[in-house]
Amino acid sequence: MEMNIDELRPHASRIHFTKTSASQINAIRRALLSDVPKMAIDDVEFHLGPIRDEATGKDYDSSTSLFDENVALRMGLLPIPTDLKQFRFKDKCVCKGEGCANCQIVYSIDKKGPCTVYSSDVVPMGDTKLTISEPNIPIVRLGSDQALLVYATAVMGTARTHAKWQVAQSAGLGYQPHVSVARAKECSDGCLKKIPTLCPGKVFSWTDGKLKVVNENGCVFCEACEKSCSHGSIKVEGDPTDIHFDFETDSSMTAREALRFALNDLRRRLEELRDAVVSIG
Ligand SMILES: [Zn+2]
Repeated sequence: MEMNIDELRPHASRIHFTKTSASQINAIRRALLSDVPKMAIDDVEFHLGPIRDEATGKDYDSSTSLFDENVALRMGLLPIPTDLKQFRFKDKCVCKGEGCANCQIVYSIDKKGPCTVYSSDVVPMGDTKLTISEPNIPIVRLGSDQALLVYATAVMGTARTHAKWQVAQSAGLGYQPHVSVARAKECSDGCLKKIPTLCPGKVFSWTDGKLKVVNENGCVFCEACEKSCSHGSIKVEGDPTDIHFDFETDSSMTAREALRFALNDLRRRLEELRDAVVSIG
């Protein structure tokens, strides 16, 4: 297998694999989706009863337009910044599950209506580098007499337990297209003429009176070209050994960090499998 990173943005990447197969790339896809750990809010403590504004002396109602469970669920889905070198799973931490700076982050929200509570209102207690990098995710709208006062604890987990611990999103693979034009005797110009305008990927162009393939990578396998010529002049094939792979992260970590962890973890598990098979003899 050979690998070339075509595009590497902070939270998205496109990788070109050659001399490979769909099953190998699918193993990487599944490792990215299920095995990369991240921090996510797992416990939310709501203040119940009146919430007093010390400056004005006004009492606010602690109930909002959403059930507390919904607010907690939305907070669970926020992309909590995760440094994989720093954070540990709680049960494997040196604190033996008690909770410390290496295995949990405590956030608070203290907002009074009328307003919309956003992810930027979820404030880390301690290190400001743990501030959520996406500030505009709405959580709940507060009426003029409503307030929200909560403490939330984020811990490490993986998407094998719950989707809120899923780092990678929109992970998908596609074969490299190979498009060829071999004009059949039966083809009229009318038969092929419309193909450049039919093709959404701008794959074809008329050059010197001939239909030519000018942008093979633009092909999305829609088959519009093949269907427009009933004489079989156009052939579109996908190469199963030559694969493009795309994925994004939820911004809790960079695409590079997620990919590095997934590849190392996959290698570790394959080595364990190999050792187990060898030990059977
Ligand atoms: Zn700990």
